[in-house]
Amino acid sequence: MPRYDYDLITIGAGSGGVRGTRLAGGYGARTAIIEEERVGGTCVLRGCVPKKLLVYGAHYAEHLEDAVNYGWSVDGASHDWARMIDTKNVELDRLNGIYLRILRENNVEVVDGRGVLTDPHTVEVNGKSMTAEKILVAVGGWPSTPDIPGVEHVISSNEALELRELPKRMVIVGGGYIAVEFAGIFAALGVEVTEVIRAEAILRGFDHDIRVNLTDEMQKRGVKVLSETVIRSIEKDGDVYTLRCAGNEIIETDLVMYATGRTPNTAGLGLAEAGVELAGNGAVMVDEWNQSSVESIYAVGDVTDRIALTPVAIQEGRAFAETHFNGNPLTVDYDDVPSAVFSTPPVGSVGLPEEVARARYGDIDVYVSRFKPLVHTLSGRDERSFMKLVVDAHTDRVLGAHMVGLDAPEIIQGVAIAIKCDATKAQFDATTGIHPSAAEEFVTMREKRPNPERVQAAE
Ligand code: NDP
Repeated sequence: MPRYDYDLITIGAGSGGVRGTRLAGGYGARTAIIEEERVGGTCVLRGCVPKKLLVYGAHYAEHLEDAVNYGWSVDGASHDWARMIDTKNVELDRLNGIYLRILRENNVEVVDGRGVLTDPHTVEVNGKSMTAEKILVAVGGWPSTPDIPGVEHVISSNEALELRELPKRMVIVGGGYIAVEFAGIFAALGVEVTEVIRAEAILRGFDHDIRVNLTDEMQKRGVKVLSETVIRSIEKDGDVYTLRCAGNEIIETDLVMYATGRTPNTAGLGLAEAGVELAGNGAVMVDEWNQSSVESIYAVGDVTDRIALTPVAIQEGRAFAETHFNGNPLTVDYDDVPSAVFSTPPVGSVGLPEEVARARYGDIDVYVSRFKPLVHTLSGRDERSFMKLVVDAHTDRVLGAHMVGLDAPEIIQGVAIAIKCDATKAQFDATTGIHPSAAEEFVTMREKRPNPERVQAAE
């Protein structure tokens, strides 16, 4: 008679939890996964997938404009937001069904309800106790908002994905991934978007040139970026919201969305009571094996607040399952993780930003290219793509590749393989370009950008 009901109980059926559990189930473990909402998690239900579908939908606005000089007549074209939301939801239902099927096919019992730990091997759900040798916490994160008067009036990306109609004006607070992505969606569909950021520029942590070039492109599309602006309070009067800023400026708008980061979803889960060490923001502290301070409790994905990206959560889930249920100890390599921002135009980035590379390696070479994409020579759109390589001057190794412009995420994914293989600039240069493409710029950049320190030393 086994000591526990299951070998593994997972709380949270998002990307990381599902991957870890279904692999464990496939390897023969007795598994259950507990989910209080629908199976799929943030990425499938409230994040990457629905967001990207809306990005595609919004981009048709530009495609239609751009088509005219290619001979198309697009008079009378109009957009039905509610229809896009409905079709997007049909797709989410389909994906939810696929996730459920995959879990069942891998012998994972799916339990609807909220799981709360009562001891290091026991989870209570729907008034019933379930025990397991190992417990995997994969409950993800949730939008967090600052505690200011009137914050109850704001929406998050969760609600933005479900709006029934578009406002005329909208304020988006925050300058991270979510804020710039939604600014692009709404602006393309005709909403007057003001993005309010407390910092000097959007996308903290990205290469400076990327931040500047994307801001420039967003502004060309009508997004107003208010930097170094802090909102103190929000009042609602009828359908109008009044935002009072620290410098006494007042902004009036029809909808306020906050995208000011996400917090691990651990409140009320019984983790601290079970002895699990949590960070100040509630994240589960884990080691490289995804193990918490309690031997039987593990965590993967956004709840651990390492790199909050779906593919990383999936790698962590896989590493957990391989290690514990397939006799194949595996850890995740967090170096050179590429990422994309599905802004308009999008950003792709891998490796070190120039500023970080300079601080870490000292002497670096920088190559940049800024050009009008071929498609826009005819469309007439005033858009520039920007690409950048950061190279270690001593070893010639490419330390970072960054891009703002059409297809940036698709292009950077391939470049990321080269960077993961420690490719040198000489190897980039020895690679034949694909012509005509934007991607070929990454293998044809010959002119180093003057190094400010070397220029200064020479003077
Ligand atoms: P981010 O951490 O990317 O950005 C948060 C933004 O909110 C920053 O601009 C930050 O400003 C600002 N901010 C934080 N607190 C406050 C405050 N009190 N008042 C005003 N502004 C504030 O979070 P997101 O919510 O955009 O996204 C969460 C995470 O989800 C991302 O970090 C990313 O890992 C993931 N994600 C990935 C996507 C992708 O891969 N394409 C898409 C969407 C999300 P400051 O810069 O000054 O700190």
